[in-house]
Amino acid sequence: MTDILIIGGGVSGLLTARELVAADAKITLVEMGDTGREASWAGGGILSPLYPWRYSNAVNALAHWSQDVYPELCCALHQETRISPELTTSGLLVLDEEQRDVALAWAEQQGRVIEVQDQAWLEQTEPSLELAVDEVLWMPRVAQIRNPRLTQALRQSIQRRVRIHENEKVIDLIIENGKFQGARTTKRKIKADCAIVCTGAWTAQLLEAIGETPKIRPVRGQMMLFSAAPGQIQHLTLYRERYIIPRQDGRVLIGSTLEEAGFDKSTTAEAKEELYQMAVELYPLLRRTPIEDHWAGLRPGSPSGIPYICTYPTVEGLYLNAGHFRNGLVTGPASARLIADLVLQRPPTLSPEPYRLEAKRD
Ligand SMILES: Cc1cc2nc3c(=O)[nH]c(=O)nc-3n(C[C@H](O)[C@H](O)[C@H](O)COP(=O)(O)OP(=O)(O)OC[C@H]3O[C@@H](n4cnc5c(N)ncnc54)[C@H](O)[C@@H]3O)c2cc1C
Repeated sequence: MTDILIIGGGVSGLLTARELVAADAKITLVEMGDTGREASWAGGGILSPLYPWRYSNAVNALAHWSQDVYPELCCALHQETRISPELTTSGLLVLDEEQRDVALAWAEQQGRVIEVQDQAWLEQTEPSLELAVDEVLWMPRVAQIRNPRLTQALRQSIQRRVRIHENEKVIDLIIENGKFQGARTTKRKIKADCAIVCTGAWTAQLLEAIGETPKIRPVRGQMMLFSAAPGQIQHLTLYRERYIIPRQDGRVLIGSTLEEAGFDKSTTAEAKEELYQMAVELYPLLRRTPIEDHWAGLRPGSPSGIPYICTYPTVEGLYLNAGHFRNGLVTGPASARLIADLVLQRPPTLSPEPYRLEAKRD
């Protein structure tokens, strides 16, 4: 008998497991592939929503709480596992915001730093960038993590205290008299007091047999990777909804598309060309830089990007932590803390109201 079953081993499931082991619960985590290989691997790792002033307070509240704890989390994971999630405060250049006053008012109200800078500053700060602009918005405190390293570190940090079953899919939930009893997987039946569904883009599929489903759908995102040298590009750069992420080892990611393609994770020549053109327009040095990789991942798309972090209303003992859309890495720690609060019946860290299944999201 396990106390808590976590279904899905992306960043949401792994962070949730890490929160709950601290409470001495017996935890089993079931993952249909290998942990941390879906959206949590495919993503970029920018620790801020893109153009955050366009998002609701519900998303920003999770992001801000998480941004504050990321340094301590990454430090603890590095010490425990010797794997560094490479938390780096690269700062974010926003090259094309037309509503700069809205952005500045948001920053003032939320206590975030946004500076307006000119072309001369830009040339000095990011010399490889070739774009003529009158002004840019500069968010010096925005950081990034190397998400595949984060999930590797999380897995290693919990593996001695959590039973992890990989390559095993939960195929249905066992519910009797309105109470969660356990789950059937492709390999066994697991009894548990409660379950937390952290299945990302696949959440509606898993829940459709039991009644109301959250509005979560797969939204494909394609990314490209260049192998540049360290320091050639130094800052996160956002332009026309696309972004550039320079890693510590010099690799540069370009992302990402936003496509409704169901569960199809193929890459396309059109997206590759579009991302390439955007990258070399901003950073011409990338024309002379080898392309190392091109991939796609499935974001757990939800209305307004507000995740479902809640009890499942008609089934006692069933919980959701899913639907983080474009922001599951930046909102992950707060989401995990909040769902752990709900499961353990602790006073919630953040108001749970906006993340309920019934909450209005459009
Ligand atoms: C291209 C791209 C760029 C992104 N960039 C950023 C960014 O810069 N910053 C940011 O914050 N976020 C970003 N995101 C979003 C972020 O990656 C996601 O919101 C986050 O990873 C979601 O995590 P998750 O654990 O909920 O889902 P996932 O990582 O998809 O994990 C869900 C897991 O559940 C498993 N699963 C599903 N069904 C079952 C089942 N029935 N039984 C067992 N296991 C099951 C899956 O195999 C999967 O491993 C990006 C996403 C993409 C695709």
